[in-house]
Amino acid sequence: MANVLLVEDDATIRTALMRGLRDRGHAVSSAPTALEGLRLAVAERPDLVVLDLGLPDLDGTEMLRMLRAVSRVPVIVATARDGDTEMVRLLDAGADDYVVKPFSAAQLDARVRAVLRRTADSRTDSSVTVGHLRLDPRSREAVLGGAPLDLTPREFDLLHYLAVRSGEVVTKRELLTEVWQVPYGGADKTVDVHLSWLRRKLGETAQEPRYLQTVRGVGVKLVEPS
Ligand code: CA
Repeated sequence: MANVLLVEDDATIRTALMRGLRDRGHAVSSAPTALEGLRLAVAERPDLVVLDLGLPDLDGTEMLRMLRAVSRVPVIVATARDGDTEMVRLLDAGADDYVVKPFSAAQLDARVRAVLRRTADSRTDSSVTVGHLRLDPRSREAVLGGAPLDLTPREFDLLHYLAVRSGEVVTKRELLTEVWQVPYGGADKTVDVHLSWLRRKLGETAQEPRYLQTVRGVGVKLVEPS
């Protein structure tokens, strides 16, 4: 079903939820601290993160903000605190949904599936806008500042893949797998060449990037130019 990262410091809860989610067909990895959770969220690129707010090293809301700075992965927060103000604060900080403790693995699984359905819909069908750039995956049209961009099918796929993840660093490995459909092997150079073509069409250069920002040694991200 999905690759879920569970960030929870309580070993008993963690074990029970991992078992429950695995029984329902998910692949689950886990972290007992916020920092380990952040590391795994970047390294393993889970489909969804379940985040306990009461962690030993960082406040959960703080972790949520840090996670949002590097990833748009859907996040369900698990909190012992109930109440409207708390929920509004969490959703503002970037949570996609929340569960109030105590909850069962079945309840969590229902939330996981609902959140993934929602994000899948918004990622595949609707048009994406980043700054003055707009991409419509149904008509496969790309427009920059009102002017249509003349993109090859591969360039469109590449730009769209980055646009739906705007602000998120995407590795070249991931691009080869997801855009080129090369499950292993494949050359980073292929990605580099296409990125440079895309840059030219977007009217920018690697030296003076606007939308396409290279993150040295990690990958590339598409951002709204400041
Ligand atoms: Ca806890």
